[in-house]
Amino acid sequence: MRTRVAIGLGSNVGRRLARIEAARCDLAALLEDVRCSAVYESEPMYREAQPPFLNACCVGRTSLGARPLLEALQALERRAGRRRGGPRFGPRTLDLDLLLCGDLVIEEPDLRVPHPAMSERPFVLWPLAEIAGDWIHPVTGLTIERMAAALPRGKLRRHAASRERSRQ
Ligand code: ADP
Ligand code: MG
Repeated sequence: MRTRVAIGLGSNVGRRLARIEAARCDLAALLEDVRCSAVYESEPMYREAQPPFLNACCVGRTSLGARPLLEALQALERRAGRRRGGPRFGPRTLDLDLLLCGDLVIEEPDLRVPHPAMSERPFVLWPLAEIAGDWIHPVTGLTIERMAAALPRGKLRRHAASRERSRQ
């Protein structure tokens, strides 16, 4: 049985767009029926003294369970040079968050689904609404589209290079 999953991508160190695009290719190999949002640029949210992020979301299907999927995502983060142990919410070459896993709710110390912070993050909800607006968040009971609409977009903007690329 395949589950529909949503992944959040982020990068604010080095060649951010190349990292996001490489991660999208990796996710296309890991998951089936992958669809990705445009790439957005956002100001850092919790720790402001760091460079701006590029963010995107992808959805797909997989027969992997949530934990093996998280491990696969962490292996991709490591391959992109991500080092653990830096400051919380600090700069990172690549961040891959498991946002949603069908209508599963998991509350374990190192694995929480839906990702607990997604509801307060415009840089997650707005890109996700582009590709999965009708997905009902299993905790709030609201569609992603409604959750995004309830959250000011702030300084989130589409990244120009990705906009040009998606027109080609
Ligand atoms: P964040 O993405 O919230 O800014 P990190 O990427 O530093 O923070 O995540 C740190 C830890 O969060 C990871 O070690 C992982 O075990 C845990 N975690 C719990 N639930 C999830 C999830 N749904 N997706 C990604 N990481 C998660
Ligand atoms: Mg993360």
